[in-house]
Amino acid sequence: MSVREGRATQRSNFGFTDWDVEDRPQVVVWEATRACSLACRHCRASAQRRPRPDELRTEEAHGLLRQMAALRPQIFVVTGGDPLERPDLFELMAMARDMGLRVFVAPSVTPLLDAPALERLAETGCAGIQLSLDGADAVTHDRFRGQSGVFARTLEACATIHRLGLPLTLATTVARHDLHQLDALHKLVRSLHPVRWSVFFLVPTGRARAEEMIPPAAAEEVFARLQAFSENAPFAIKTTEAPAIRRLLTSGGTAPRARATIADGRGFVFVAANGDICPSGFLPLPAGNVRRDDVLEVYRRHPIFRDLRDPGALRGPRCGRCEYRTVCGGSRSRAYAVTGDPLGDDPLCAYLPGVPRVLAGGDAAC
Ligand code: SF4
Repeated sequence: MSVREGRATQRSNFGFTDWDVEDRPQVVVWEATRACSLACRHCRASAQRRPRPDELRTEEAHGLLRQMAALRPQIFVVTGGDPLERPDLFELMAMARDMGLRVFVAPSVTPLLDAPALERLAETGCAGIQLSLDGADAVTHDRFRGQSGVFARTLEACATIHRLGLPLTLATTVARHDLHQLDALHKLVRSLHPVRWSVFFLVPTGRARAEEMIPPAAAEEVFARLQAFSENAPFAIKTTEAPAIRRLLTSGGTAPRARATIADGRGFVFVAANGDICPSGFLPLPAGNVRRDDVLEVYRRHPIFRDLRDPGALRGPRCGRCEYRTVCGGSRSRAYAVTGDPLGDDPLCAYLPGVPRVLAGGDAAC
């Protein structure tokens, strides 16, 4: 089965067969800045034109990289905002490379992402580039990203990335604006030859609003379509913030009886632009700050991280008594964004524990 929920897919994509998520995170994402010249409708970071005054300075970023070198995550992702807004980005990338870190970058598609910038990223040993694709045509994508011309520049950047031999990941946020384009998006993604299609299910945090989420019945259909796409896709398909897909994969009898996967705070850590250590970029619950705390210690010991790794801690009336909670567990970020409780129910999920069918449609109450 090639569709696997969340960052867990990276375990197979990157050749890891085993990882103790209790011991240390497999993936660390650093929000290098909140500055960005785009104004995307769904932006988790509520990115703004200028950096925030409390963002990590260069020497503090060096400290974070030293922590990463000791922690040894499987991959280290530099995101934003737009990482290219940091004047020290290439210096930090080179330092990370020299420390042996495997660094992926998720830049915004702005005029800063030109061919020379991509060449410099390639020279720093960047392990891959992730670009967003939130519509199958220019009108849909550019409206979502708040600026015209972004779709065309994205296609140009894809061509440059291929010319440089860098692995390309395309990231799509599934929401009401592009739900009807799923098949067309899949076709477009195929034509752009990524190594991975990363499909995010919208979490209403930052600038994203709850009305933009797709209803649970539609999510079930998207899960089925992704599963069908994965049967012959020449690239990996990975979902994020949709662990309920694992219920379908495991209940179908064709997927392995999975272990706990990587999810918010479970094999995954997010370091915000101001150094806050959070379980996810979509779950803004700071458990420490890299200016004073050790990321690994926070990950291992902080109660919120420990609870997020414990299926027995779930307390929603559905996720809390669901037989799939060890393989799924629901999106903790969406539970927090919608219910205010990070251990509550994931409102994207249509499943009623104990009832041998999914809800017929509409948003599940929780
Ligand atoms: S009820 Fe919660 S744990 Fe069960 S399948 Fe749905 S999201 Fe997953």
